[in-house]
Amino acid sequence: MEFPIWYQILVGFFLFTFGTCVYSFLNVVICRLPQKMDIVKMRSHCFGCQRVLKPLELIPVWSYLFQGGKCKGCGAKIGMRDMLMEVFGGLSALFCAWYYQDSIPKALTAFAFIGILSVVAWIDQDTMEILPSTLFVMLGIGVISVFTMPEIGILSRVIGAFCVSVPLLLICMFIDGAFGGGDIKLMFVVGIVLGWKLTVVTVLIGFITGGVAAVILLSSKKKGRKDHFPFGPYLCVGAAVALFYGEALIQWYLNLAM
Ligand SMILES: [Zn+2]
Repeated sequence: MEFPIWYQILVGFFLFTFGTCVYSFLNVVICRLPQKMDIVKMRSHCFGCQRVLKPLELIPVWSYLFQGGKCKGCGAKIGMRDMLMEVFGGLSALFCAWYYQDSIPKALTAFAFIGILSVVAWIDQDTMEILPSTLFVMLGIGVISVFTMPEIGILSRVIGAFCVSVPLLLICMFIDGAFGGGDIKLMFVVGIVLGWKLTVVTVLIGFITGGVAAVILLSSKKKGRKDHFPFGPYLCVGAAVALFYGEALIQWYLNLAM
């Protein structure tokens, strides 16, 4: 059935706004969770002048644009990253709804999975740590996905939990500090969510994108050879791509190999 265009625009606008609001909250989580600050009770405030933000200043994306990226009180610059994350959240909501048009539970599960991957990736980027609490939330989404995405079988999920995490663990035994313990636990949980096939795709994309990023960082002298840099964000990108395009990538690769 074709819906009229005005209806599609309205639904699209609602979905985008919903996504920006959720990611506005996730920005707070990314900022406060590593510092063990209260996520819900504490009011949002400016980091420049400690002024508590007014309701209008809390509207995702728009408040940033209207204020020109500055605090109205002290003129301190507001980071663009939070705003871009909110835009990403809006696009994520639109994309999940489009990709899973015929199943709202699937779309919501995918949206939640991308959301928690974003949190894990940014906290790892900021602090070089993958927090257990975030992995527990991801595990919860994995349990829900057993029901919303039954096409990924239980056996595939059990194998998925171990098929990448165990080899990474073995590599760590021989090469000290090759990966963090967080990366291994992350791949355990990703395996439960995605099943073994897509988990293999995840780690391959992680290695490729992480490898390219390492080369760029080393050659631009932003990082030295001895610097550690977080691998988690690349695994998270891999997991997100694998969820939507893993099967297509596997088919493409098999056709290439034939
Ligand atoms: Zn301020």
